[in-house]
Amino acid sequence: MSEDLSQLVPFEVSDPACAGPLPSEGHTLFGLDAEALAACMVAAGEPAWRGRQLAEALYRQRITELDSITTLPKALRQRLAAEGWQVGRPRINQVFQSVDGTERYLIECPDNQTVETGVPSDRSIVAGVVETVWMPEGDDGDSGDGSDVESQQSSGARGLASETWDSISNGSSRKRQATLCVSSQIGCAVNCQFCLTAKLGLQRNLTAGEIAGQVLAVFDRHSVQVGRDRVNLVFMGMGEPFLNYSNFISAVRLLVREVGLSPQRMTVSTSGILPGIELFAAEPPELRPKLAISLNAPNDQIRSAIMPINRKWPIQSVIDAVRRVPLRPRECITFEYVLLGGVTDRPQDAAELARLIRRTGLAAKVNLIAWNPGPGINYSTPQPEAVEAFRHALISAGIPAYLRKPRGRDIFAACGQLKCTMER
Ligand code: SAH
Ligand code: SF4
Repeated sequence: MSEDLSQLVPFEVSDPACAGPLPSEGHTLFGLDAEALAACMVAAGEPAWRGRQLAEALYRQRITELDSITTLPKALRQRLAAEGWQVGRPRINQVFQSVDGTERYLIECPDNQTVETGVPSDRSIVAGVVETVWMPEGDDGDSGDGSDVESQQSSGARGLASETWDSISNGSSRKRQATLCVSSQIGCAVNCQFCLTAKLGLQRNLTAGEIAGQVLAVFDRHSVQVGRDRVNLVFMGMGEPFLNYSNFISAVRLLVREVGLSPQRMTVSTSGILPGIELFAAEPPELRPKLAISLNAPNDQIRSAIMPINRKWPIQSVIDAVRRVPLRPRECITFEYVLLGGVTDRPQDAAELARLIRRTGLAAKVNLIAWNPGPGINYSTPQPEAVEAFRHALISAGIPAYLRKPRGRDIFAACGQLKCTMER
């Protein structure tokens, strides 16, 4: 399987999309931070504080048309438009609705074109389109939905389950809660054997604006009020965020500094890209999401068979890097673990996983995910009894373990099912 590693894109740390020189083409304002917007205004012969006005309009007021930014003088708006500038925020192109309330969106990014990929199952794939998933009640996976146990209990999160997002009216002062699963790349190069996104291969990295734009596009659809509604962000959609590190972290900064979201309600998941974890460890804690590691196996032998990336960065090297991430008070690391029937869900796997996690000495918990099927992938969904026994074995060994509810399986929106599928 070593040939799989050659498909990995080089690890890229340069070129944050919202810092440094302005884009020479495209003229897209969305994705630039306040500083870059100020530089843009100065270049246009305007005072730098117009950049702050623009940031306010794009990220707080969520205005999507240049002409509607009325804090800018009309003549300036017209001049910017004549020079080819536009807001350029990604737009929702299609919505697929699940019986369980989950929504999967195809979100249009600038290089939109339809292609056939010829992957098994022959579904049509849209390049330049990225997927985002909205789960109105979260998925019960502790921190898989970006929230921690204490706050779930104190806010009565479980109690809210019978009330849907939309049944709490917009005018109400009640907090609404949901989880939004965001993509960082179109497709993925990592080639995990159980994941449908892997079938796409890597199409391209998303820019910071395309990553943050998914969030605001969906916020608008559901009239999310930042500061009132509780929306957890999980960077667990298509792609490997740590193979697009600079754009991913620039998007986080935009969402924290400009949009006003809390990084403590964000979780990023990685398959274990070591240089990315090292950069992440150096981020200021107040500006970074929580970390989840897709462990998925109790030892290197099984992990290498299902995740070829493990040959490059085996379990111990990933854990050593994770140990260097300074944790905030009460923060812990999440290990995600996909249960593959007969492969990773056996009693001996649970025992070995418990030993492995205990040995790390990390404040950690496990999010179990029963494998979601996809065409052309030959694994089986674990038996419900095996899942429960697995979770129970971890808990008995003193390791907090949660089962993530499969959400939106009927619309190909569940973990590992994102492949821009056009059918329901
Ligand atoms: N690339 C990142 C984030 C996206 S995948 C990563 O791998 O961590 C998000 C989660 O979905 C990962 O934990 C992954 O192991 C899991 N996953 C992938 N395919 C799956 C499938 N078919 N069923 C259940 N979980 C899956
Ligand atoms: Fe990529 Fe994550 Fe899927 Fe692996 S599980 S192929 S890293 S999206």
